Amino acid sequence: MVSLRGVGKSYGEHRVLHDFDLDVEQGEVVTLIGPSGSGKTTALRCMNFLEEYDQGEIRIRGALLGYTHTGNGQRRRDSDRNIAEVRAPVAMVFQQFNLWPHMRVIENVTAPLTLVKGIHRDAARKRAMRALERVGMANKADAFPAQLSGGQQQRVGIARALAVEPEVMLLDEPTSALDPELVDEVLEVIQSLARDGMTMVMVTHEMGFAAKVSSRVVFMEAGRIIETGVPSRLFTTPATDRLRAFLRTWF
Ligand code: ATP
Repeated sequence: MVSLRGVGKSYGEHRVLHDFDLDVEQGEVVTLIGPSGSGKTTALRCMNFLEEYDQGEIRIRGALLGYTHTGNGQRRRDSDRNIAEVRAPVAMVFQQFNLWPHMRVIENVTAPLTLVKGIHRDAARKRAMRALERVGMANKADAFPAQLSGGQQQRVGIARALAVEPEVMLLDEPTSALDPELVDEVLEVIQSLARDGMTMVMVTHEMGFAAKVSSRVVFMEAGRIIETGVPSRLFTTPATDRLRAFLRTWF
């Protein structure tokens, strides 16, 4: 579904991703864990070209993301239109929700459908209401974001991503901006999506949750994958000292 091969990314002189390889299959929940600054968010943002990777290849359902080959081994950045087409199956949930404050909940969820996907207003509204129902927020459709708790806002953020009927959802620390008592309601929604077979790649600092929901966990440090595995193995018998040391800070 999403495949990364030898992906690298630098900010100026600072290389933050090195030779990153990952395959995400349909129905998998892959979580990226690791210390602060290890490149988790950057890796996730490269997967829908919110960040431009500069080495390797990212493919979504086989299509190269962000670049087009120009012959003799060269490539150039693709047109915005082609990039949008390749990443159409991917939706993103942001740490800070990124809702438009001047729009009602229903408008926040409908806007990507009408503006980006070109769906007719009435059909978009029906789809948006279904997505809001899915996350238990249909009764707040006419509220403004500021009238909602952080947990409710993030559930709207998830509904907005769901409404485009994505094949893959990318979630960037979806609970880390929330007060502790609001985390569970969001994790429950994510877990129910996982149960329904939604393919997800998630950056999280919630280790207990990662252990519970992931099909596969990827441990990163300094822009590299150090270890990857099913949670039952990775969290109980880490193969590297680095992961062992990291987990000691959590468990
Ligand atoms: P955290 O857990 O703290 O969110 P992370 O593992 O998600 O961290 P990233 O946010 O991907 O890490 O950052 C990786 C590195 O890239 C860090 O050193 C960070 O300072 C740097 N970085 C991230 N975004 C930018 C940017 N826009 N410009 C320059 N450097 C950046």
